[in-house]
Amino acid sequence: MASHRVLILGSGPAGLTAAVYAARANLQPTVVEGSQPGGQLTITTEVENYPGFPKGVMGPEMMELFKAQAERFGTTFLYGDVTKVDLTKRPFTLHLGDEVHTAETLVVATGASAKLLGLPSEKKLMGYGVSACATCDGFFFKDKELAVIGGGDTAMEEASFLTKFATRVQVLHRRDQLRASKIMQDRAKRNPKIEFVWNAVPVEIQGDADKGGVTGVVVEDTNTKARRTIAVDGVFIAIGHEPNTRLFRGQLEMDERGYIITKPRTTETNVPGVFACGDAQDPNYRQAVTAAGTGCMAAIDAERFLEAQHG
Ligand code: NDP
Repeated sequence: MASHRVLILGSGPAGLTAAVYAARANLQPTVVEGSQPGGQLTITTEVENYPGFPKGVMGPEMMELFKAQAERFGTTFLYGDVTKVDLTKRPFTLHLGDEVHTAETLVVATGASAKLLGLPSEKKLMGYGVSACATCDGFFFKDKELAVIGGGDTAMEEASFLTKFATRVQVLHRRDQLRASKIMQDRAKRNPKIEFVWNAVPVEIQGDADKGGVTGVVVEDTNTKARRTIAVDGVFIAIGHEPNTRLFRGQLEMDERGYIITKPRTTETNVPGVFACGDAQDPNYRQAVTAAGTGCMAAIDAERFLEAQHG
């Protein structure tokens, strides 16, 4: 059984910033990288809004730099996903594969993932014309017809971005009013390549993974219940994100959407010694820089907590 003073779950900007700070405080932190090492930024292309990179930086490269910085000060990395945690007593117990780890403090930086519709056909065609990341996959749809599902800011942003490649982008929304902010709506509505299909609930994505991928989306009209197929070559799901916090259900306090609740101005959770940072506790900003900021806070909170315990 390995024991840790600071165990950090997640290797996105929040987790790796927590590691840099905890390592520089001589706490020899360990980071469990999770199933998507580097987090959501590894599936983006260029990051233009992270301060300090005036020319922009590729998401995966930025996360390598974060990791190198954490390694430089003595962070240990473990691979895989933690499958079970017990936060009822300290040190906390965590299961990683066949191993059991204990931790005096835990930093939860498990991030968020794009929500999916939950259709069997969506799962089958994921990567074969279905995507949840326009910046990752838009490039593959040069001169193609696309659908974007959703009516929020993400959907508007993805649709606008995809017009760089596609001949036409149809936004399929389940209501007749967008949720997106006015400025994002206006930008999308002004774009001649974007069309809106209202009151449309996707019920099936058509196509064959072995034969060229997606060919269309079947939508049901919410008023008439009539179904029709919209022919497209790709479908981008942009219906929001959900925090990766299932592991902590029943142990950490969360809001109704599963975001971990932290005490204002801190990263403290309801369990003393457990700190949450990044998208796992932030439904609002969800930016690399804010995640890094709260990661720094979590490491400082953990350091102070340990100091108070051990003097
Ligand atoms: P939102 O929750 O704001 O929007 C999700 C959209 O998807 C809604 O229109 C919703 O419909 C629709 N939807 C949800 N579930 C389903 C489903 N099962 N089937 C069909 N449609 C569905 O998420 P976003 O990711 O768009 O935005 C999240 C936050 O991030 C917001 O605060 C947003 O402002 C912010 N953001 C800001 C950006 C910017 O300013 N550049 C860019 C991207 C995000 P309905 O409206 O009916 O609920």
